[in-house]
Amino acid sequence: MFKNIFAIYAALVMSVGFSGNAMAKDAHSYANLDAVSSRHLHLDLTVDFDQKTLSGYAEYDIVRHDAAASSFIVDTRDLTINRVEVLGENWQPTTFTLAAPEAILGAKLTIALPDDAQKVRIYYRTSPEAAGLQWLTPQQTAGKKHPYLFTQSQPIQVRSWIPIQDTPALRLTYSARIKTPKDLFAVMSAVNDPDAVRDGDYDFIMPHKIPPYLVALGVGDLHFKAMAGNTGIYGEKYILAAAAAEFADTFEMVKVAEKLYGPYQWGRYDILMMPPSYPMGGMENPMLSFITPTVVAGDKSLVDLIAHELAHSWSGNLVTNGDWNDLWLNEGTTSYVENRIMEEVFGLERAKMEKALSSQGLLRELKTLEDVDTSLYVDLAGRDPEKAFSGVPYIKGQLFLLYLEEKYGREAFDPFLKQYFTAHAFQSMTSAKFITYLKANLMDKHPGVVSMDKINEWVYDTGMPDDSPRPTSDIFARVLQDQQDWLAGKISLKDIATTNWTVHQWLHFITNLPEEMPEKMMRDRMTQLDEAYNLTASRNNEIAHAWLLQGLKHDYQAILPRLKVYLPSIGRLKLIRPLYKQLATTPGGLAMARKIYRPARPGYHPSAQKVLDKILGE
Ligand SMILES: [Zn+2]
Repeated sequence: MFKNIFAIYAALVMSVGFSGNAMAKDAHSYANLDAVSSRHLHLDLTVDFDQKTLSGYAEYDIVRHDAAASSFIVDTRDLTINRVEVLGENWQPTTFTLAAPEAILGAKLTIALPDDAQKVRIYYRTSPEAAGLQWLTPQQTAGKKHPYLFTQSQPIQVRSWIPIQDTPALRLTYSARIKTPKDLFAVMSAVNDPDAVRDGDYDFIMPHKIPPYLVALGVGDLHFKAMAGNTGIYGEKYILAAAAAEFADTFEMVKVAEKLYGPYQWGRYDILMMPPSYPMGGMENPMLSFITPTVVAGDKSLVDLIAHELAHSWSGNLVTNGDWNDLWLNEGTTSYVENRIMEEVFGLERAKMEKALSSQGLLRELKTLEDVDTSLYVDLAGRDPEKAFSGVPYIKGQLFLLYLEEKYGREAFDPFLKQYFTAHAFQSMTSAKFITYLKANLMDKHPGVVSMDKINEWVYDTGMPDDSPRPTSDIFARVLQDQQDWLAGKISLKDIATTNWTVHQWLHFITNLPEEMPEKMMRDRMTQLDEAYNLTASRNNEIAHAWLLQGLKHDYQAILPRLKVYLPSIGRLKLIRPLYKQLATTPGGLAMARKIYRPARPGYHPSAQKVLDKILGE
């Protein structure tokens, strides 16, 4: 344990030597890791749905790196600290100082550490407004009978429900005892027992060292349905069968990923189905991915999300970005691995379409971003690390690895990436350290293929390199040709063979409808499309999203009744933020958006509320 902590620290110190861009100290944590770090967390918490609080204690096994260290510093946000004890000869109270909160970082908690202290126990209570917790009333769940609680710790929200050294430069194991109302069931990013007696008292162990942002908890009227191999689904009863059918290929995905990138190291891979208000697509909590129900489409068309969260079992959870400046190491690598899994399980054509859709999306998004935010490595000091979560770390990062794959060929690149995961398993990684490893293990072995200048351009420069891969698909070319012929009046809609179109083809067709067309003509075209395909009523959440967005852009009013139902029913920001944003571009639209938003707001996640409040000036 100690050896590994030391190795992380040594790696961080080393990375400074390689690049002035790498930082040894995470700008988003107050923790004094270099002096004292925690190697194991034990949580003992009571979940109170009436008060909307967690209360109890967090206990740490600590490791001193500096013998003279006299304090243990942890991150907190909106926590009430009741008392702190330390274990030397025996448990005794110690003094602590909770600093005034800082807007982004929260409040620094400094705990006095006697020389003989081996453990620290912090008694605390969370705030009902804790940024990392969402408390749902029974009304906000599908079953309507029981409340639901879930956590979202990434990037720096774990400190709002656990006082902790909240930096991904740290890794620790954890155990927990969680007490809930008797009729509810608790699950964590840990070893879960689906047969545990439902008595409101649950125990968990995460035996692997994880970064703090992967500590996760879900509580609700949860049940379990096993799938093949080591996979299964937790969730409210209504969705178990549908989710198990939708995600039936999960075990196949695990096997494919193992073949490419080495053994799955986490034991089970289960999925927790989140309530509809879940603000994200998924969260790669180890052993238990949290997944939005918006991808249960009935035809497996959106299961690339499962491939994505599963891929994090290698990139992110096993090899982890050392701080949020290097988020691309988690998300870009994961997006690349995700697409490789999709190719193996669902075939090359689908993988190509998904790559093409996401890279086209990135090119559109780049036009809306500040130039400084378009490099893979971003210096986020002084900024909220939430800001890092654009398409850049995901898709530009994916394209970077795709570029390397194309340059070196899969026969060289695949073993390299597999070895990268194996060599850095359960460690943190920085851009500088990645480049050093890349040079020694791929570039130097195949000299003259890619220059170091090129690598630095990809990682540190803004915008897209001129020779970036441009994923395309023959199937998409056909879709666009049909679209152009139809718009030009050469063919009618019934001449287009849409019967077997996949969701990807529909998305490509809809998002590529021309921007520059007279409004009236465009509305007529949308009316024709609706008459032929009933897109306004699409039950596929992605298709509906793309169509509603086009409708708003072209003032196609027939979508409005659906829009008013769609927006409050979904909490996933990817699907609702662009619609609110588009509405907010006109005074009439903004007024409508606020009218939809105000009653819907309590059902959204705190982090979604923050984003949408800003867009709508609320
Ligand atoms: Zn991800």
